[in-house]
Amino acid sequence: MKREGLLDLNEAVQHPGKKLAFDVKTELQQEEDIDLLKPVTGEVRAVSTGNLLLLEADLSTRAVFECARCGAAVEIDVEFSMEDQFAVEGVPSSYSHEGYAYVVADEPEPMFQDNALIVDRYVRQGLILNLPSQPLCSGSWDGPCQNEVSTSEQEAPSGHPAFQSLGGLKSEDEE
Ligand SMILES: [Zn+2]
Repeated sequence: MKREGLLDLNEAVQHPGKKLAFDVKTELQQEEDIDLLKPVTGEVRAVSTGNLLLLEADLSTRAVFECARCGAAVEIDVEFSMEDQFAVEGVPSSYSHEGYAYVVADEPEPMFQDNALIVDRYVRQGLILNLPSQPLCSGSWDGPCQNEVSTSEQEAPSGHPAFQSLGGLKSEDEE
């Protein structure tokens, strides 16, 4: 039975060494703090060592952030990779007919339900850790903010560039 939002990794858990790969796609509908412009998509890979379930993910999305300098909305592509490991207990069924290995879910907010990864919870954790720390509408600290460029053009549509920059200094002094 495939449940919504769960990635069944039981086959990897019961067969150490067997590598699984899945395409994932989620809109993180429970996420209210991040304004996604498109779903988070990518690949999640899983393999068990017997004692540990190793997960890797390569994911990307596009979201709206606030410029760290001027506060304007800025759209930024976010690409990130994740590597995590989860403790596994029990004997894998591939080792013993009566065996059953399971991922230990001891976090306050478990990432697993039985041996299925709760995709949104896992993806969200990776996304939060990989958000741009200082998003800038201009793309870098070197150039001015987008709205500063357009504002100065509106105030001084003509004239020598040197006078435009003098005007900018003057208005800063007045403040
Ligand atoms: Zn800005």
